[in-house]
Amino acid sequence: MAIAFLRGKISYHSSKVGKFFGATGKRIDSRITGIGEGMAQAFMEKTISSELSKVGEAIGAEEQSVPPASFASMLARHELKLVRGNTSVLQINMGLLCNQRCRHCHLEAGPDRVEMMDEKTTAEIIEFAGRGRFQTVDITGGAPELNNNLATLIENLAGLAPKIMLRSNLTALTDVGRRYLVELCREYKVVLVASFPSLNQGQTDSQRGSGIWEKSIAALKELNAAGYGEPDSGLVLDIVSNPSGAFLPSSQEATEKRFRRDLGSRWGIGFNHLYTFGNVALGRFRKWLIDSGNFESYMRRITESFNPCTIDGLMCRTLVSVSWDGYLYDCDFNLAQAIPMGGRAMHVSEVEGPPKPGTPIAVGEHCYACTAGPGFT
Ligand code: SF4
Repeated sequence: MAIAFLRGKISYHSSKVGKFFGATGKRIDSRITGIGEGMAQAFMEKTISSELSKVGEAIGAEEQSVPPASFASMLARHELKLVRGNTSVLQINMGLLCNQRCRHCHLEAGPDRVEMMDEKTTAEIIEFAGRGRFQTVDITGGAPELNNNLATLIENLAGLAPKIMLRSNLTALTDVGRRYLVELCREYKVVLVASFPSLNQGQTDSQRGSGIWEKSIAALKELNAAGYGEPDSGLVLDIVSNPSGAFLPSSQEATEKRFRRDLGSRWGIGFNHLYTFGNVALGRFRKWLIDSGNFESYMRRITESFNPCTIDGLMCRTLVSVSWDGYLYDCDFNLAQAIPMGGRAMHVSEVEGPPKPGTPIAVGEHCYACTAGPGFT
């Protein structure tokens, strides 16, 4: 039995370190045949240690160029499956037009994008929301504020889901000419989820564009003045912070404390909750990682930080994402990668409601960003 166990160990290590240990494993395997089990254990421990030290340097060099294991194989290694639970969140991407061009944007949204949700698709999504009985509707983009159908969407969804969230880059929401949207959000108690990556002006501007930090601070003050983020107002203002470079976010709890202290004491700004999100190596962030020579090390870092405990809480288990043209995806990152839900393009107008619990979720290497450390989606 011990010999069988040791052969299993050889096979595991062989798959891990490929050609180096595979050959070594075969040599050891031939040498343990025919000796007693107790002796085999001691022999194996000594031999494995000696063989590993011989190949150590070579393995180290090889790891520099070994691509990360596929996400699907990582799940299999941990005997995990990523399948849907009860879908309670409808995420609606209204299009890729944005007044900013952020370096980390996985959708490459910007002022030159023309993908926008039209009136017909807006109406089809409202009907889908009516059939789906979702608990939360999460509206995103691009900058959804730039879509003229946003007000129609909010007004019609208000009676269909208890909670409506609007993701905002702040500068699009409070821009002159769109301030009526703040009033509309107040009226329907829309939860605002505002991107504000850093307390550092230079870091924010390098990620989001020159002058964005100052405009964001002004927007946060304006939202506070409208009651958002104020105690007992019932108007929720949440903040999302994400790293400005090729690293993982700091602890959410510590970051929230720091933002609350500094935004409060320096600018008199209040908010409800802060979430830290990791950047997903897609779109513009992927290009930046490659151009800056950080892609391999970033992917290695998030792969090595894979945490199997995050799987149950991944947003794709409870969320369905709809694109500006009305097609369904397991999440916004799969939308960016054009990986449709269920393996085929499905339009909201042709489905009864959300996918059934137990339906498999489409995965790719970008999923490692969601499962690194404490998990980031
Ligand atoms: S990218 Fe994240 S949210 Fe999307 S399918 Fe992968 S693990 Fe789920």
